[in-house]
Amino acid sequence: MPARILDGTSIANEIRSEVAAEVKKMAAAGVRPGLAVVLVGHNPASEIYVRGKVKACEDVGVYSEEHTPPETATTAELLALVDNLNRRDEIDGILVQLPLPLQVDSKQVLMAVDPMKDVDGFHPVNVGFLSTQRPGLVPCTPAGVIEILKRSQIPVAGQEAVVVGRSDIVGKPAAMLLMNANATVTVCHSKTHDLPGVCRRANILVAAIGRAGMVTRDFVKPGATVIDVGMNKVTDPAEFQRLFAGNSKREQTFRMKGSTLVGDVHPEVAEVAGALTPVPGGVGPLTIAMLMYNTVKAAKMRRGNRVPELSRV
Ligand code: NDP
Repeated sequence: MPARILDGTSIANEIRSEVAAEVKKMAAAGVRPGLAVVLVGHNPASEIYVRGKVKACEDVGVYSEEHTPPETATTAELLALVDNLNRRDEIDGILVQLPLPLQVDSKQVLMAVDPMKDVDGFHPVNVGFLSTQRPGLVPCTPAGVIEILKRSQIPVAGQEAVVVGRSDIVGKPAAMLLMNANATVTVCHSKTHDLPGVCRRANILVAAIGRAGMVTRDFVKPGATVIDVGMNKVTDPAEFQRLFAGNSKREQTFRMKGSTLVGDVHPEVAEVAGALTPVPGGVGPLTIAMLMYNTVKAAKMRRGNRVPELSRV
């Protein structure tokens, strides 16, 4: 039986409407959460991501503003910008879009963001809160992975979870969240021996690698839930054939656009897995939904009892 497809778009829409309802309640108390996005230079992919984030703010009723320093911006200039945003009361969340230009000390800039406004959840203070199970801001993509599992009624507690990838942005926080949700967690990386064998132990397999279609059917225990975080652009026709031979819909788009978006999981995994997130339309939409969630959460945490206690978000 083919895997149940976990529809990230509809889960993300559900979260976005919950967030919009919270924003409405806050408006009644005279508060509007605000997000500042810092986009340095002209990276086309970053520009697309930022456009999506600003549009999401409009949709849920969050105030947003964009700061676009030039490609030549220095660390000092960005630190001054972040410092100014830290001080402004109407700004609840600050997002510095990565990557920053090479001359900028990215770690220093991210460290300068007030942890209470760190809606990306990258600040070591928030990393510490996550690892000690204290309330804080959790990185958006891994938080989205957990929301998909929860809202799809996939049990996590007591399950074997394997995360492939150990980045600070995805792999490590995803592993931490799964552990906090009482899964038994194994984290794999490029030095792991017998990666397929380790992955086959998983009831929940999270792929956050950055390699198109690397997770093939031999990585997957029959019936396992597979969460594909990867977003890879495939332009090589041979690589396309390895992944999508016989998929006429994909072939048509590939011919038209010269590329296609592929996860880290090979499509053949759908024949083995019990449940699977698609790419596109799986984890991707959750990332922006959780950013909206984090902005509202940051507003509530920072403004304390100036807003009434809100329900779920
Ligand atoms: P990184 O490059 O920072 O990390 C990749 C991880 O995968 C590393 O830990 C690396 O191991 C591991 N890895 C690489 N090659 C192998 C291999 N052959 N075998 C086993 N492990 C390997 O990537 P990110 O974590 O930032 O992103 C991962 C993927 O998720 C990318 O495709 C990215 O585009 C996507 N992504 C998607 C988002 C979304 O919104 N859906 C958001 C963020 C990322 P090692 O540490 O040993 O080098």
